[in-house]
Amino acid sequence: MKIICVGRNYRAHAEELGNAVPEEPVVFCKPDSALLPPRNPFVIPPWTRDVHHEIEWVVRIGKVGKYIEPRFAYGYLDAMTVGLDFTARDLQSKLKSQGLPWERAKGFDGSAALGSWVELPDEPRAHEIRLEKNGTEVQRGSTADFLHSVEDLVAFVSQYFTLKKGDVLFTGTPAGVGPVAAGDRLEGFLNSESRLRVNVR
Ligand code: ZN
Repeated sequence: MKIICVGRNYRAHAEELGNAVPEEPVVFCKPDSALLPPRNPFVIPPWTRDVHHEIEWVVRIGKVGKYIEPRFAYGYLDAMTVGLDFTARDLQSKLKSQGLPWERAKGFDGSAALGSWVELPDEPRAHEIRLEKNGTEVQRGSTADFLHSVEDLVAFVSQYFTLKKGDVLFTGTPAGVGPVAAGDRLEGFLNSESRLRVNVR
C-alpha cells in the first residue's frame, strides 16, 4: 500500500509556516514502513529535536484507478479516519532550504499513525478534525476549509500514481502544528468521536 500525503491544504497552516499558498496541491509519499502499528507508542527518533504533530483527515482508496475525473473521484474512496503525519520539522526545514526532497523528515518509521476507520457518507460533506495533546485542544479544522477538495486531490494524484485498493491519502493539516515530547498523550477526533490515541516516547 502507498501513503500519499498533501501539504499546505489549509491557508492558515501554509501561512503559519511562512509558505506560499500553492495553486497546485503539494504532494509527497511515505513508505509503508512509516505506518505506526496500532496501539504502538510513537518513538521520537534520536536524530531530531523537533518532531511536530500534524492531525489530518485521511481517506482510504477502495478500488484501482488512474486519471480519475473529479466528478467520479468520491466513488474511489471507501473509508475515512484521522491520522497523524509526524514531521521532523528541524530536518524538513534544513532540506527545504537546500531545495531537497523531504522524505527523511516525513517518511521515517512510525511517522504515519492511522485512527480506526469509519464508512464514508454516501455524499461528500464537511468533516471536523481535532487533536488533543495531554487533554488540551491544539489543532482543529474542517474539511470545508480545504484549498483543494478531496475529489480534486484524488483526481490530481491519480494522474501520477495509480491508486490501488488500500492506499491512503493524508489530506493536509490545519493550523496549530507544534512539537511533541516524550510522555505526551495525543488523541485525534473525527466529528467529535475519538478515533486515534498515540503515546509519545
Ligand atoms: Zn501533513
